[in-house]
Order: sequence, then structure tokens, then C-alpha cells
Amino acid sequence: MKADEPIVIKNPGRLMTLTYVFSLSVIAVLSLAILLMLDEVITEQNYTGRILNISGQQRMLSQRASMFAVDFLQTGSQNSKRLSIAAIEKMKQNHRFLLAPHFEAIGKNEPSPLSAALFELYFMPPADVDKKIRLFEGEISAALSESGDLVSGNFSSGSLMFLQLAENDLLTPLHNIVEQYEKESLEKVNALRNAQNIVLGIIILTIFAEALFIFRPMVSKVSRFATKLQYDANFDYLSGLLNRRAFHVVAEQAIATQHRLKRPVSVVMIDIDFFKQINDTYGHEVGDKAICHVAKLLKMSCRNADSVARIGGEEFALLLLDTDGPGAFKLADKLRERISENPLDIDGKLINITVSAGVFCISEEHESIESALSKADDALYKAKENGRNYVQMA
Ligand code: GH3
Ligand code: MG
Ligand code: MG
Repeated sequence: MKADEPIVIKNPGRLMTLTYVFSLSVIAVLSLAILLMLDEVITEQNYTGRILNISGQQRMLSQRASMFAVDFLQTGSQNSKRLSIAAIEKMKQNHRFLLAPHFEAIGKNEPSPLSAALFELYFMPPADVDKKIRLFEGEISAALSESGDLVSGNFSSGSLMFLQLAENDLLTPLHNIVEQYEKESLEKVNALRNAQNIVLGIIILTIFAEALFIFRPMVSKVSRFATKLQYDANFDYLSGLLNRRAFHVVAEQAIATQHRLKRPVSVVMIDIDFFKQINDTYGHEVGDKAICHVAKLLKMSCRNADSVARIGGEEFALLLLDTDGPGAFKLADKLRERISENPLDIDGKLINITVSAGVFCISEEHESIESALSKADDALYKAKENGRNYVQMA
């Protein structure tokens, strides 16, 4: 990213909020779908559990009705008759419950909710359970209305036989119905579970896709801008040197450290001489190049640990670590000399540049950077008065 590249992101907060809201909404909708499916699975399992229980009861009830009817025929027990009637009534009630959705749909001219297999078991021969249940009820009722001579054993052996036949004929289809209900419920629950797994997979993929295609680019864009903003906040866009604000922060800390270590530290203020003339003669663009040229020479001539900053239009400041007054003066004069010996080359045309400098060694323990710079600036003023291209000690 170039230093002069403008910041183009418009309303980044709104963009990020919209992206977050969109991404989270997609995940929320998919999660809701899973929740609804889970609810559907539970409802389905409850319903089919009830259906299985009731259809399972039918076998037991048919045996019970038959057993007590036979007992009544053999012993004349009124209790057995009552129990048989109760069993057959319950069986009829269950049968109505199991076929209620079917008859409701038929009544409304809608297709039956029964599967083809169940429809066949209930209504088609050979199983034909609906018809067989009615026949069985008829047989039981007929048997229970018999009133034979119990002592002589004179009761209808025909009824007994029919009863047993009807019961045997009914048991297997009732068993098949239970198995069919079991099979269908398992299929339904499995289908719902599969759908749930698919949606779960889609959620995971969506999260990955969002992380990869939305959040990762967004994070790298934001961190690029953060890096650029941090750079712009600390460095001068033209020369690439530290700016005034950053120089103050860095220098403040460095001065404190140097004093703690009892090591010398100095500041130098440097100002380009007659810079206005350069601007007026060659134009502002060349003036900018002159600033960069001087900045480069300053940076090259200082140590890495030293700080070099552009603190004004054509003004620079140096913070020299482990450098006392004479050392700082020597370096500043070397810089002055180097700048005056290295004219700016503009398409083969050489423009001479000179600078003046004010040097101040910070010996006071609690000297602030502002006051140190102000003292170096006073010395710089004297250097200018001395005819420029000159270094003055404070
Ligand atoms: P002196 O020797 O006394 O320092 O004279 P001078 O001409 O260098 O000083 P003066 O303060 O009169 O003029 C400084 C000029 O620097 C004025 C201003 O237009 C110019 N300037 C400030 N910042 C920039 C910049 O970023 N680029 C360019 N090209 N010129 C700048
Ligand atoms: Mg100047
Ligand atoms: Mg100036």
C-alpha cells in the first residue's frame, strides 16, 4: 500500500454490521429449520408410538375377547361375558381411531393418508382386516347371545369353532399391520433424520464459506486499513520519516530511558535554508523532492537507534542516543556538509541545498522534549542569523 493512497472504505461500520447480520441470519434460518425438523421428529415419534401401541393392543384384545367368549360359552360366566364385551368394545374403538385419518380424508374427497401396503392390509383380501374385525365382532356378539344348558354342556359347538377360526384368521393380519406401522414409522423418522443431517451439513458448509469468503477478506481488509491508518498516524506521508506527534512519543520515552541509564542524549533541529526560494524558482513539486532528498540523507547518516522526524514544512528533528553535546555537534556538522555536497538532481539539473542546525544536549533529568526542542530551535535561529549553512550549539 502506497503512502499517498487514499482511504476508500466508505462507512466500514455499516458494511461490517450488514455482513454480520446477513451471515448470522443465514445460520439462524438454517438452525431454525433444524429445530423445526427435530420438533417434527419428536411429534412423529410420539404419534407413531401411540399408533404402534394401539395397533399392538388389537392382537391382545382379539385374544382376550375370544378367550372370555369361549369361557362364557363353556362355563356361562357372566363375568367372562362382561370382560369379552369390554375387550371387543375397546377393539372397535381402537379400530376407529386407527382408521379415523383414512375415513376423514375419504369424507373430504382427499387421498387416503394410508400407505398402499396398509390400505391393502386393511381393505383388500386376503388380509382385509377391516372386514375381518367386523366379522369377528359379529361372531363374538353371536356367541355371547347364546344361552346353552351349562350343566348338560348343550351349547353351540358351531359358535365355538367359528369363534376360534375368526380369531386365528385375524391374528396374523393384525400382526402384519403392527409390523407395517413399525416399518413406516422407521422410514419416516429416518427420512427426517437424513434431512436434518443434510441441513446440519449445509450449516457447517455455510459457516466455512462465510469464514472463507466473507469474514477472512473482511478481516484482512480491516487489518490492511488498520496498518495503513497506524502508518499514517505515525509517519510523514511525503518523506516517510516519523511525524511530529510520533517523534514526541518516541523521544519522551527514549529520554527517560537514557536518563535512567545515565547515558547522554541530544536533540538537533534542522531547517532547509531559503527553501521558499527553491519552491518559487523550481515549483512546489521540486520543493517536495528537496524535502525527500534531505530526509533521505538524514536517515542514511544516523544510526538505527536514533530517531529522525519531519516536524514541520522543511524542518527536521533528530534524537541522538548515547551522544553528548560535542558528539551531536559533530554529527550535525557532518550532515550539514553532506547535504551541501550532495545537490538535488532534477533531470540532470543540480540544485544546491544547504541546511542550518541547532544542537542541544539534554542533561537535565526532567527536561521535556518540548523544552529541549525549543532550546535547539533557539540555537537554530542563531545559526540562521550566522548566515545559514551553519550549526549552532545551544
Ligand atoms: P529560512 O532560510 O529562513 O529557513 O528561509 P525559508 O525560505 O526556508 O523559510 P520560510 O519559512 O520563509 O519558508 C518555508 C517554506 O516552505 C514556506 C512553505 O510554503 C514551504 N513549505 C512548507 N511545507 C512544504 C512542503 O511540504 N512542500 C513544499 N514544496 N514546500 C513547503
Ligand atoms: Mg527554511
Ligand atoms: Mg522553517
